[in-house]
Amino acid sequence: MNDNKPAMDSRRALPSVDALLQRMAAAVERWGHDQASRAVRDALAGIRHQLDQGLAAEISADAIRRRAEDALLAGDQPTLRPVLNLTGTVLHTNLGRALLPAEAVAAMAAVATSPSTLEFDLDAGERGERDSHVEALICELAGTEAATVVNNNAAAVFLVLNTLALGGEVPTSRGELVEIGGSFRVPEIMARSGCRLVEIGTTNRTHLKDYAAAIGERTALLMRVHTSNYRIEGFTHAVDAKALAALARERGLPFVVDMGSGSLVDFTALGLPDEPTVAATVAEGADVVTFSGDKLLGGPQCGIIAGHRALIERIRKNPLKRALRLDKMTLAALAEVLKLYRNPATLCEKLPTLRLLTRPLADIEAQAQRLLPQVASALAPRFQVAAVPCRSQIGSGALPVETVPSAALEITPAQGGDGELRQLAEALRHLPVPVLGRISNGRLLLDLRCLETEDVFVRQLAPLRERLQ
Ligand SMILES: *Cc1c(COP(=O)(O)O)cnc(C)c1O
Repeated sequence: MNDNKPAMDSRRALPSVDALLQRMAAAVERWGHDQASRAVRDALAGIRHQLDQGLAAEISADAIRRRAEDALLAGDQPTLRPVLNLTGTVLHTNLGRALLPAEAVAAMAAVATSPSTLEFDLDAGERGERDSHVEALICELAGTEAATVVNNNAAAVFLVLNTLALGGEVPTSRGELVEIGGSFRVPEIMARSGCRLVEIGTTNRTHLKDYAAAIGERTALLMRVHTSNYRIEGFTHAVDAKALAALARERGLPFVVDMGSGSLVDFTALGLPDEPTVAATVAEGADVVTFSGDKLLGGPQCGIIAGHRALIERIRKNPLKRALRLDKMTLAALAEVLKLYRNPATLCEKLPTLRLLTRPLADIEAQAQRLLPQVASALAPRFQVAAVPCRSQIGSGALPVETVPSAALEITPAQGGDGELRQLAEALRHLPVPVLGRISNGRLLLDLRCLETEDVFVRQLAPLRERLQ
């Protein structure tokens, strides 16, 4: 065992870096000489180590070349890449939230690859305003006088508070001090934006008189935060938006609503759970509203601020607006997504978020039946597969309690338990297009609501079968 003479011989017999590179002309051309030689050197070092440890016998030059090429390929794989979202959460924050429609993607590509009118007014022949590409569309859909856009809704809330409440107090209901996804927390955003949160009411009940009593000389605005991702039930009371707007008006304060998701269409008309629309919130008297571009709206990541012209002008002039502004590709995508809202008849078919949320149950069930035998045969005999009803979540904190009926493939290990399931989940995650499901109660569920590229899924069943052997 300690006789490593054969290993020494094998080490001496290893081909040189140059000899290996000569066998890898295509790889050298694709990745360049430096990267390719680094990969070859790493492969050789790995093999020498294995020989030293007695873990390998002689290794052919071809095997070393393959090892180097595999490493080059693996290193070339982007870490940010497409997956199949079978988690059952349609707007999954960790998986990139809303998917863009083809119109938006084309518009992004056009401005990415050509000079554009980003800040150029063709009629006047002079410098233009970048918000101009979306402002009129937002105003039309939200029913406001003016609008501006920033990097995301967290930035929108921050910029609004930093502009309208810097150094002042903002009375906010204890029932609305939300945390969204771990890093957006209302009290912290308020502190960082330079205003002082004045907590009012209680977790479950806050009354108009609580707001009225909290208003003083230093009060900068009244704020309402949509409790996007949780619901308080039972003995509760929140102040009606109209009453809060009236109080704000009476005291000469702006009334700001962070809507979170904010929908531009009536969700109940689409057979979905109710979510306040931006236009309704504005009609109830909100002076400024903020909402996300990539939640229920179904657009690119951005934050939209809409409201009275004088307030929006002040927000736009905040020097931090520059630090939070949108890039040209996001603006181009947002404009296209907003335009789709002008034609309600085609909206649900063209906008992926709404298409997935309104996908007919019968379609998903038929897909489950279609895929069942193929998946069952790929996973046999280690796993059993059944088509079962399930419920999809909307996600991104939108509509946390309500779910929509869907269909899933339910996979259970023939023997063993969670270890088997974890291995299966890992194999699915390491497919060329990773497949993400959810494990619950001793089974892996693949919710098919968001599987629009069935062929991509089916093509991976053979590699999956191999991985599980
Ligand atoms: C989601 C959400 C935010 C944060 O929005 P992002 O676009 O993720 O930055 C802020 N407030 C509320 C109420 C939300 O639901």
